[in-house]
Amino acid sequence: MTEHDKRSRWRSFCPQCGRETETFYDNLCESCFRAGLSLLDPDRIAEDVHASVSVCQHCGSFFKGNERTELEVVVEDAVRRAISKTYGPECPVGLMELRIERDEGARSAHVFLRVKAEIKGVPVVESAEFSLLVRRAICVQCSRIAGGYYAAIVQIRADWRTPNEDELEAAAALAYGALGKEEFVSKQQLLKEGLDLYVSSAEVGRRMAKAIVKHMGGTYAESQKLYGRRGGRELYRVTFLVRLPGYTEGDVLELAGKRIAVERIVPDEGLEGIDVETGERYFVPLRDQKRAKRV
Ligand SMILES: [Zn+2]
Ligand SMILES: [Zn+2]
Repeated sequence: MTEHDKRSRWRSFCPQCGRETETFYDNLCESCFRAGLSLLDPDRIAEDVHASVSVCQHCGSFFKGNERTELEVVVEDAVRRAISKTYGPECPVGLMELRIERDEGARSAHVFLRVKAEIKGVPVVESAEFSLLVRRAICVQCSRIAGGYYAAIVQIRADWRTPNEDELEAAAALAYGALGKEEFVSKQQLLKEGLDLYVSSAEVGRRMAKAIVKHMGGTYAESQKLYGRRGGRELYRVTFLVRLPGYTEGDVLELAGKRIAVERIVPDEGLEGIDVETGERYFVPLRDQKRAKRV
């Protein structure tokens, strides 16, 4: 018997089950090695998720710190982290299935998982089903809304008149349509002269003012007021004063003895209209509208 034969005979038994084998994984045959593997430890995953994510009880969004996230992302991270901690960061992990069932507003979620990984060259598939608890909190955005926080005000007015209800409604719809994901209106105030919207940032206020003027005509002006200091930085609140056109389509105005029915508003320039008696067409520039009277 050669040295090689002896060696291979000695190596060909699994010390755990005694089965003959040619290939060893951590000194065990493949099936004993597999039997000792455990990819998914539900308690550990649930604990990790519980520690790293919270759900806002106002808006229902999930947060990791102050950053918005999805529960699926957090669960997947926890799974990958657990496997890599046990079997090394180099072993490939793939999520074959991840389903999370959650009742609206419920603190607990039910997770269905199917994961595949390759541990020391052995492909393993494992499934798990378990419940986890999610911490409840109030996110920064919701607490700011609740506290009436605002960084800018959008004031909707009209030249030489009060905007009517339809106009305010249309302007408000345009303003809300300009809201981005993290932005909000914390207060909406109806006044004799128009509507004020208290918004989360100067950027969104500016976007709202632009959207209103683009669709409804008129102009907007921006002004800022110092309201405090934080960490040596001056804090400003910005006001966007939106002025809708003084006249709207369908109005009849009196100017220099003529009665003119408004047909079209030309943003930033004036309006086009028809003399109701002669049928003649006129263009009335903005600067002349001040002298006109609505009839
Ligand atoms: Zn074995
Ligand atoms: Zn929230």
